[in-house]
Amino acid sequence: MLAVFAHPDDAEICAGGVMAKWAAAGREVHLLILTNGDRGSSDPTASRAELAATRRPETEAAADVLGLASARVLSTHDGELENTSVIREAVTRRIREVRAETVVSCDPTAVFFENRYYNHSDHRTAGWIALDSCFPGERQPAFLQRAARRGPADPGRVTTCGWAGRTSRTTSRT
Ligand SMILES: [Zn+2]
Repeated sequence: MLAVFAHPDDAEICAGGVMAKWAAAGREVHLLILTNGDRGSSDPTASRAELAATRRPETEAAADVLGLASARVLSTHDGELENTSVIREAVTRRIREVRAETVVSCDPTAVFFENRYYNHSDHRTAGWIALDSCFPGERQPAFLQRAARRGPADPGRVTTCGWAGRTSRTTSRT
């Protein structure tokens, strides 16, 4: 299983329980965070470089507590996540490397949470990136061929996408 989220702490907040449960049951659970969290503070004096340097070991420590097999944090700046072929290739490559059958991410269609909150653009974008990286990215052998050359060349393993956040459907078949 591969969890794909936007910021350090998103995965623990959105899916920490299920990741720990699956890891405890013997499933191999991997985490991929798409931004470095360098704007993730309400302190206006916080150094972005220090935030990023703090968030990475925090993510790794949390992964240890949850029993995850791996945790990676990409270097995209917080708040600047875009659904590009470069980042889809990185996600597709990671899906193939860990031979994921299940991918979990944010529901990209979840925008408004009643009148309390509207969803961060990075969260929605992470969901679209995860979705597009499963199909056509991971599913189609001829798609993102550079990713195929760098990872196991046996696409088509992902059978389930799970969505964290409010939505009418929580899973979908690829
Ligand atoms: Zn977040």
